[in-house]
Amino acid sequence: MRIASINVYHVAMPLLYPWRTAYGEDAAIDSVLVRIESDGVCGWGEATPFARPEYSAEWAHGAFSLVRDCLGPSVVAADIETVAELQPRLAQFKGNYFAKAALDIALWNLESKKRNTPLHKLLGGTRSVVPIGADFGVMDSIDDLLFAVNDAVESGFSRVKLKFCRGWELAVVSEVRSTFPKLKMHVDCNSSYTLDDVGLFQALDSLGLEMIEQPLAHDDLVEHAKLQRMLQTPVCLDESIVSARQLKDAIELGSCQYLNIKPGRVGGLTCAVELHDLCKAAEIPCWVGGNLESGVGAAVAVALGTLENFVYPADIFPNGRFYQDDLASPLVRFGKDAEGQPVAIPSETYEDPPEPDRDRLSQAVVEAALVDSGPEREKGEGWRERM
Ligand code: MG
Repeated sequence: MRIASINVYHVAMPLLYPWRTAYGEDAAIDSVLVRIESDGVCGWGEATPFARPEYSAEWAHGAFSLVRDCLGPSVVAADIETVAELQPRLAQFKGNYFAKAALDIALWNLESKKRNTPLHKLLGGTRSVVPIGADFGVMDSIDDLLFAVNDAVESGFSRVKLKFCRGWELAVVSEVRSTFPKLKMHVDCNSSYTLDDVGLFQALDSLGLEMIEQPLAHDDLVEHAKLQRMLQTPVCLDESIVSARQLKDAIELGSCQYLNIKPGRVGGLTCAVELHDLCKAAEIPCWVGGNLESGVGAAVAVALGTLENFVYPADIFPNGRFYQDDLASPLVRFGKDAEGQPVAIPSETYEDPPEPDRDRLSQAVVEAALVDSGPEREKGEGWRERM
């Protein structure tokens, strides 16, 4: 198939309330959406690196610019038979996983449509629904958090994730544990600690957590391996793993016992599936993470979560949890399984995966560009007519 054109959008999606983590506070989530058109069929992809390079070294304006100026021109007008041919074309560009992910995911969705096959089946998924968890950022008070966790427990969520950072750490988790003695839960440190904090993590061992997510630096593997050897609680990596090569190193070093896989962080679905398969072979359980993507990205996360080794509930949320209006239409569907556990439901209908609603996309756009091969090639103009 010949890639006819690529539209790229940087959007800012206002949150219902600020999202606070170890690296700061966001009032809106900045995301990058890509639309690839080929033979009259289009596929959408989304990656969400946030407004500033705080979660990782990437940021939304940078990812947008890179798709517009480098990645997009390198693939537009190309004949690409399957999505597997995309990543080798992008390999000349170092890093920049979120930018690559937006293209990779768009092409997977395009291939899903062209092959009349739902994305989750194309990826090799085996599950009909994906169990999901509840996540809580830093709140104004522990009472607020306990109220929210209780709400999640009453709604049937089987696991809870708490953000963990200076000023919101051991006392908070201890209080949640004493209030909910049997609750399956873990903490996410977003790479804000060092090995000097080993005592703090050893203190968590007595609280029976499922895992400690990304306690140390965002690009570290060696110190995570050292920390894991000093703890009973499993270490889970998130930020540190952006490629199969790093995962192979992490497995060899013993840096983690769980892996959080986010398609955006790892360059798209192609690498996400490869990481899943490597973990499965190494008997490391996985779970699908997220960066508060719109329904476009959430639907992709649901499809990925149907793969066999995603055994811990995913970070995929009903649209109204964070946003007044989600960009996507139709919305991702949610339900409950036989045990009453909330689940996300993959789309069986390849013809209408969640894609941006035209009006809501217009309202959220910060910048937009079109990459095509014609002499009339535009940048930043005419995108409204071409959405
Ligand atoms: Mg994380």
